[in-house]
Amino acid sequence: MILYYDVCAFIILILIIMSCVLKKMFHGRNNGLFYLMMLVIMLSTIADFGAGYMKDYGVRSDINHTVTYMWHYIYFFTHNLILPSYLPFIYSNIGMWHEFEKNKKVRAIWYASMIINTAGLVVNMFYPFIFYVDEKLQYYRMRGILMFYINAGLFMLFEIAVILKYRSIIRKDKFIVMLLLYPIIMIGIVVQAFMPDHLVEMFMISVALLLFSLIIRREEEMTDPMTGARSYNVAHEHIRNVLATGTPVYILLIKMVNFKNIRLYLGQQLLSTFLREQSSKFGAFARYNSLEEDIYYLEDGLFAVISETMDGEAVKKLAVQIKNYYSDTLDVEGFTVMINSRLCILRCPEDIDNYNTLYSFCISFERILPDTKDVMFYPDYVDNREFRIKSELDEIIDRAISYKSFELFYQPIYSILEKRFVAAEALIRIRDEIYGLISPGMFIEAAEISGAIHAIGDFVLEDVCRFISENDFDELGLKCIEINMSTSQCIEMNLVEKVAFLLKKYKLDASRLNLEITESAVDFDPDVVDQNITRLHEMGINFALDDYGTGYSNVKRVTTLPVEIVKLDKSFVDGVDDPKMWIMVQDTVKMLKEMGRKVLVEGVEEEKVVHKFTELGADYIQGCEYLQGYYFCRPLPEKDFLEFMKMQVK
Ligand code: C2E
Ligand code: MG
Ligand code: MG
Repeated sequence: MILYYDVCAFIILILIIMSCVLKKMFHGRNNGLFYLMMLVIMLSTIADFGAGYMKDYGVRSDINHTVTYMWHYIYFFTHNLILPSYLPFIYSNIGMWHEFEKNKKVRAIWYASMIINTAGLVVNMFYPFIFYVDEKLQYYRMRGILMFYINAGLFMLFEIAVILKYRSIIRKDKFIVMLLLYPIIMIGIVVQAFMPDHLVEMFMISVALLLFSLIIRREEEMTDPMTGARSYNVAHEHIRNVLATGTPVYILLIKMVNFKNIRLYLGQQLLSTFLREQSSKFGAFARYNSLEEDIYYLEDGLFAVISETMDGEAVKKLAVQIKNYYSDTLDVEGFTVMINSRLCILRCPEDIDNYNTLYSFCISFERILPDTKDVMFYPDYVDNREFRIKSELDEIIDRAISYKSFELFYQPIYSILEKRFVAAEALIRIRDEIYGLISPGMFIEAAEISGAIHAIGDFVLEDVCRFISENDFDELGLKCIEINMSTSQCIEMNLVEKVAFLLKKYKLDASRLNLEITESAVDFDPDVVDQNITRLHEMGINFALDDYGTGYSNVKRVTTLPVEIVKLDKSFVDGVDDPKMWIMVQDTVKMLKEMGRKVLVEGVEEEKVVHKFTELGADYIQGCEYLQGYYFCRPLPEKDFLEFMKMQVK
């Protein structure tokens, strides 16, 4: 009997185990099942060796006879378990574990294969139809052994069918290795069947396993170096897999809302320590709840727990535990931090079944969902209009661009000096087929992030030009229309050409347009913005500085920019009742007037505000020129606005 093969197989198995330990492959179901397979194969190899040894070197005795039998039984039992132990490993590795757990047919086939083999061995104890060992400790195969071969062959076909069925969701290298296992084992079986003295089968199996261990990912590749949690890529692969296979999972999202401040406060090194603490804490909480779940770090203070096994209650418990943990201040090597956390639980595929929506929800849920201190559950919000709009914004904007379903509303601007409406601000809305009218506050920022703002800006410019050209503005008493410009529009290289083209196309005087810019736009890329503003100004277009007083106010820029009007944000209006604030408002107006700017007050809702600002006197150095707000008129659709203006002129 040639035993070296078994010795080699054993050495290979030991090496695989060592490399797995070095790779820190302790965690998760995949690794657990891999070790289980190794254990089965190891026992089988030892028994194979034991039986072979007894055959060649065993001294004839009753006890040795029994021992030899025992080795053979252990060998057959464990050997017959190798293929069945591979099945759960396959399901787990391709992310279809739930199928293995729930599909009764799969289970039945799995059990049947093991039961038939075990029953065969039990019967063999009384009626040796598979093998027997004579007094000389020699082993003889009987015809019944064919049963094992047939059983193994059928089971193998079943496993191959499973792998082929899910080929589209299996990583290519994994797919190849998973299938490669079979020809390698077959070679071993065939060789050993014809040359029973060559115990190559276990050797071949261990070689196949070695291949496997090579494609199983190293721990470091799966771990985010900064936090010690599972990395972004692994999370995405997991999520993609789960959605592709329809595996039901719970996802718990944990977001530190004030992460940016914490990063600034702690600095990179302490931040890493802090995040590591977080992920090990979450791991400890999970273990406390007897959960065997991976903690993922996605980005910018966002952790996720993805669970295929825990039930809703357990996820909730874990979430509440984490929420409580965050409710206290935390100590990071002497630095005290307070985390403002938001947690949300969702189920897939019930709640979200496609990757893009899920991904954008994960990274923006804290902005989309209403602000609450409690753990949130996705299903509670699905019927909320605002939530639905926010989570589908990109699609809504794309739809609006393709169907040109934007609409401009106009809000009249009142001149204190002339005591009438002299201009209007164009304010965009989307008229969506599903959600109706959507206000710009909900979509402008998203459009700026996605880049759709350029198409929107082009639409606004052209539609305002069309509107002006189709109406007699002099008759309506209107001088110009104000257009809101986004930061990204202000840095468009061809902005000037675009505006010039439209003015020509609609035969308009440049003074009919007044472009509103914000200070953030001005500071964003001063060179390009300056160039655009200067050239447009030279063409005769006026500028207004919008939302003055909301951000930090770069007074120097205000003095140097050719803006004609500065629009005071509504927050100034809110200050009219407070004597100290009112002093500040007056001083601001005075300062702007001294710089030669005209002042417009936005958000005027009450008569007393009108009085307060009118009393300043528009022609006086301290006064404001224009007022705008709901008190006079809300933004109106084009037709209504025209009606409104006609009524004023009468
Ligand atoms: P904004 O330019 O500061 O426009 C003034 C906003 O205040 C408008 O909101 C207007 O409806 C609202 N408003 C007017 N009077 C009052 C009032 O008395 N009280 C209160 N509470 N609000 C008042 P809207 O139309 O929702 O627009 C919001 C913002 O969206 C605008 O702020 C502007 O920054 C942006 N936006 C609007 N249209 C466009 C556009 O065509 N392009 C770009 N880039 N941004 C736009
Ligand atoms: Mg504006
Ligand atoms: Mg404004």
